Amino acid sequence: MSRYEPVIGLEVHAELNSNSKVFCDDPNIFGEEPNSQVSPISLGLPGTLPVLNRVAFEKSLRTAVALKCEITRSTSFDRKHYYYPDLPKNYQISQDYEPLGRNGSVELHLKDGEKKTIRINNIHLEEDAGKLVHPTDPGSRKLSWVDLNRAGMPLLEIVTEPDLRNLEEMEIFMQTLRGMLRYLDVSDCKMQEGSLRFEVNLSIRPVGEETYGTKVEVKNVGSIKAALRAAKFEIIRQTEVLDSGGEVVQQTCLWDDEKGETRPMRSKEVAKDYRYFPDPDLPPVVISDTWLISVENDLPELQDAKKTRFVSQYGIPEYDAGVLVSDRALADYFEDCCSQHDSPKAFSNWIMVELLRELQNRELEIEECPLTSEYLVDLVKLVEAGTISHNIGKEVLVDVMDSGKPPSSIVDEKGLKQESDEGALLDIINQVIAENPGPAEEFGNGKDKAIGFLMGQVMKKTQGKANPGICKPLFEKILRT
Ligand code: ADP
Ligand code: MG
Repeated sequence: MSRYEPVIGLEVHAELNSNSKVFCDDPNIFGEEPNSQVSPISLGLPGTLPVLNRVAFEKSLRTAVALKCEITRSTSFDRKHYYYPDLPKNYQISQDYEPLGRNGSVELHLKDGEKKTIRINNIHLEEDAGKLVHPTDPGSRKLSWVDLNRAGMPLLEIVTEPDLRNLEEMEIFMQTLRGMLRYLDVSDCKMQEGSLRFEVNLSIRPVGEETYGTKVEVKNVGSIKAALRAAKFEIIRQTEVLDSGGEVVQQTCLWDDEKGETRPMRSKEVAKDYRYFPDPDLPPVVISDTWLISVENDLPELQDAKKTRFVSQYGIPEYDAGVLVSDRALADYFEDCCSQHDSPKAFSNWIMVELLRELQNRELEIEECPLTSEYLVDLVKLVEAGTISHNIGKEVLVDVMDSGKPPSSIVDEKGLKQESDEGALLDIINQVIAENPGPAEEFGNGKDKAIGFLMGQVMKKTQGKANPGICKPLFEKILRT
């Protein structure tokens, strides 16, 4: 047991999935030709004026409501000043004085079945900055290129209170929040594209101590996995500092994912360094009762409610429901299957065991899955009808993931149909008995376990295609009567 307890707070940035940027109509798309999505507004040219994107604002409001925040009825935008080449205006439009929401909360379901509430300090809407690209130069000069496509993309910042106490809570929080943002359809949360980013604030304190220790803020953390690694690194580093009699220095660090370490970037900046002031170009947004009520009424069914419904509507175990609702698109996929064919438990098994593993191996999202819900229905029907065995079904699933072909055509093309013809199976069974007199005699003498070996031999001879439901009674008939 460590003598120290970590105290962790997260600042989460999610890029909103509105069609255009937050203060102009440049498209909000990832991966385009550098500097191709930049109007004079994104370039920060003098004389341009920002106009707030209503969709981006409503998505922010929806999130604030779902996070149970107190909604600021007159919310406003401020300029946060700093100098960097990816920020042409030299200020970022953000919210400081009147953020959209305050004092929210997220409920976590911990592994031991306990619940824990993580408080949300505030949630606010801002614009993203551009990106610096560092190409390799044959002359080994240090080059920096500026790509302003990302400048002005809508960014939602969610700031937690320092309520997380260990890596498990931190991981569950990040996953819960990601799931929620996807449920709310406000962000695709694709971490590999940078649409969900974390800043990890971490301090440690002696177990039993009430006051917080000095925190370090780690930036540049691009995935849940990286955030956990960065936190672990900091816990170990800060423990060593304290154990050797030193003091943790309050600072901002960068996470180096390749080296697996944090590196000091600058001593901590404070709010006054940014010279926040209200942006005179943007009026406050007043949220009326009617508007707020309509947002509350339009909230989609969230994870917990969906889980309860899955258990009662489909009669699947709570565990299954929990896995299926972990992602909205996955839950939709399951429901698509059930609407085509009434075998919820079969679908949930195939999805949880086979499909999720194959998706993970291929680093695919369910939306990109070559095995569509129609194909999984096809596959489950083939197994239920006894056309193919369960084991062959698993192979077919992998094949669909690779080839994108429908399961029935794979079964036809590869001749994978289960052998259910008694006559044909009888020949093989007689062969197996002749070749394995020992086990055959054991089975004949009542030793049930021996059937496993005998069936294994039959499967070997038939490349797994023998129908076990037909073979077993045949063995019994021959050896036990
Ligand atoms: P700052 O003014 O340095 O940005 P804030 O109080 O705004 O600090 O908090 C920023 C983030 O740091 C929040 O997520 C908060 O929960 C977290 N935080 C604040 N104090 C601590 C601490 N002592 N240890 C760990 N995290 C902290
Ligand atoms: Mg901060």
